[in-house]
Order: sequence, then structure tokens, then C-alpha cells
Amino acid sequence: MRNALKHTPVKLAIVGGGAAGMFAAAVAAERKIPCVVIERKVRLGSKVLMTANGRCNFAKDISAEQFLADVGPAAQFVAQAVRECPPRKIIAGFKSLGVPLKRMADARMFPADGKAATIVHAFGDLLRESGVPLLTNCPVTGIQPQKTGFIVATKNFTIWAENVLLATGGVSYPKLGSVGDGQRFAAELGHSLVPYRPGLIGLETSDPRVTRRAGRRFEDACARVIAPDGAMLYEYKGEIDCETFGLSGAAIYNCQRFIEHWLREKPALKVCDITVEASFDRECVRLKDPRPRPLKGAIVTIGGVALDEVNPATMESRKVPGLYFAGEVLDIDGPTGGYNLTLAFATARRAIESIASSNNSRETRLASRARHRLIYDII
Ligand SMILES: Cc1cc2nc3c(=O)[nH]c(=O)nc-3n(C[C@H](O)[C@H](O)[C@H](O)COP(=O)(O)OP(=O)(O)OC[C@H]3O[C@@H](n4cnc5c(N)ncnc54)[C@H](O)[C@@H]3O)c2cc1C
Repeated sequence: MRNALKHTPVKLAIVGGGAAGMFAAAVAAERKIPCVVIERKVRLGSKVLMTANGRCNFAKDISAEQFLADVGPAAQFVAQAVRECPPRKIIAGFKSLGVPLKRMADARMFPADGKAATIVHAFGDLLRESGVPLLTNCPVTGIQPQKTGFIVATKNFTIWAENVLLATGGVSYPKLGSVGDGQRFAAELGHSLVPYRPGLIGLETSDPRVTRRAGRRFEDACARVIAPDGAMLYEYKGEIDCETFGLSGAAIYNCQRFIEHWLREKPALKVCDITVEASFDRECVRLKDPRPRPLKGAIVTIGGVALDEVNPATMESRKVPGLYFAGEVLDIDGPTGGYNLTLAFATARRAIESIASSNNSRETRLASRARHRLIYDII
């Protein structure tokens, strides 16, 4: 580790090669910022490969303002990032990479071949062509701030980086690599964490009207969230799926996410005060005390690094200069429909644009001269 300090630092270490990390590296390459991507799993984008049942609904073809209106509590924090990198810019970006796309009637965007691998390969090809070093099968174990920059530690070597971008994702689907390391590093460096809750997940019920329809999908369905006083708080028209455990599908997911955020604002209330009404197949099933499935199976993590400790104009920590965040590691989440990948991409771009425009220190100039030279210290 001592030797690492004798060398020139890389300008940027991107920790996590998922949606936010890959996008960040692509923008860094475009901006000629020397960077390295360090990914825990053997390949980039393990979670992206799983999105939308392997089809990858990467964005929705709507304006930035519509996106922000839909996204909910994180809207204020992500507003600048999304206005600069709106869904339509992301769509145009994939088109310019030569990825044929498909637009659904409801404006959701997919690769035309229906394969999430097409999106991950597009990133992989771009990063390899740009000469960005990709260190896979390489979990980062710690981040230590130095007088200038950071020492990024892995099991076998350390990297000296002037800036660090934490793009390590949420905590759901831990087998895909997102195990909460970034939140742990942030907490060790003095950041507060907002407690985790599952987002966009099914609701459990043993109601026989649901369980006897297990395996059936109803496209023209509707789910509503009803307050203790009987007022309708939220309604979403869309798909409902009957499962052996209960209900899932876009309408249920969005209601479940709405409830989590609503309860956050009203700590005196409990989930048992809420009712979900699911209308499908000429049935109206009322779930009192709607129980979400466990966090590990959630599409998104609600909670993470507290937003008031991160500058939304730069995605830089307000506590540790040079430490940046993007994607689900932050306490940001959106509804179903491509919003969460767009959030990861837009926050990643904002972080990189901010690093690109940050003042050039002497070390930065040296690092630029070193051009993508990766200095590491085998221990
Ligand atoms: C089943 C499923 C379906 C989904 N479908 C959609 C969809 O269709 N549309 C949509 O918009 N969103 C969807 N999402 C949500 C979306 O995938 C995530 O919000 C998005 O991937 C978050 O991007 P991220 O880069 O923050 O995290 P991730 O994509 O999870 O990437 C984080 C990366 O960091 C790596 N990492 C973690 N710790 C370390 C460490 N210590 N060192 C090095 N690397 C580390 C991980 O291995 C991982 O590759 C879905 C999620 C799931 C689980």
C-alpha cells in the first residue's frame, strides 16, 4: 500500500460495473477522463441482464418533466441530472451505438431483440474500444481517503485514485453483486443511511380468489391504495399477476412502492392501517395489512445513502470531497417502467460531468498525461 502512494493516481475509480458504473465509464471515456471500473462479479451488468425478465426496459420515451412528475420523492434530488440526461437522450445514445430499439404502446423502451445482453454488450464493446480498464471478479474491500485522493483496496491489490464513484447498487438480489458494500463504505466515511425497505415487490395473501388463479396474468387490471379513512391515495391501471404467494405485476408493484414512501412521511401510521384493492378478472380483492415480500427479491431498494449529504448538482459527497455516488446506492428509486435504469444512468452522467469540470490539480494533469495508465500495487 505504501508503494501505491509513490505513483500517479488514476483520475477516477468507478466501484461497481452495473448500470450506473457502466454508463459512468462510457461518459468518462467520452470526456477523456482516465478511469478504471472495479466490479465484484465476473462480468459487468449482472443485474441489468435480469431486468424485465431478461428484456431490459431501460427507459420510457417521455419528457424529463413527465419523468420527474412520475418519479416521486427523489424528483427534487435528481431533477438536474434527469434534465441534462433525459430518457430521450438515453434512447438516442443507444441508437447511436447501433442498438436497434423497440417502443411499446405505453412508451417503454427495450432493445429490439428483447435481450438485455444486447445492452450490456453495447457497454462492454464501447468500454473495451475506449481502452477503459475493467477489473472484474474484484470486490472492493475498503476506501481510505488520503491527503490527495483515495486508496481503493481490493483483496489482492490497491489503487490510488483521485476521485471515487460509488456505483455499487442497492441491496436486493445480492447474488447479482449488490450486497450493500457501497452503503457500508459511505457509512464508514461518516454518511447517514436511510433504512432499507423493499421497493416494487409483490404482496402476500392467501385469499383463495388469488391463489386459485396462480400463474394467470391480467393486463387490464387496476390496484388502489386506500387510507384508514377510506380515501383513495393512489391508483395504478396495469398488469396484475396471481401467484402462489399472492399478487404481483406492475399495478401491485407501484402500489407497494407508494405505500412504503407514504408510510415514511407518516411514521405514526403502520402498514396495517392501509388497504390495497386489486381489481382483476371481475374480482375486487381487498388486502388489509398488505405484506410485501422480502427485500432480497425486490426490484429496487428504497433507502440508502442519505440525499441531504450528497450535492445533487455534482453527486459529490458533502462530507468527503472527491467521493461521488450514482444509482441505487443512493436513497433514490422510481416506479416500474424503465425509471430505475434511467435514474442510474442520469445520476452517473451528472457525477462524471461534474468530475470533468472540476478544477485540474497538479495530480490531475499528471494523471491525464499518464492516459489511462493504471497504477496498482500488488501486495
Ligand atoms: C429482477 C429485476 C428486474 C428489474 N427490471 C428493471 C427494468 O426493467 N427497468 C428498470 O429501469 N429497472 C429495473 N430493475 C432495477 C435496476 O436493475 C436497478 O435499479 C439498476 O440496475 C441499478 O443500477 P446500479 O448501477 O445502481 O446497481 P447495479 O446495476 O446493481 O450495479 C451495482 C454493481 O456494483 C457491483 N458491486 C457491489 N459491491 C461491489 C464492491 N464491493 N466492489 C466492486 N463492485 C461491487 C455489483 O456487483 C453490481 O454489478 C430491475 C431490478 C431487478 C432486480
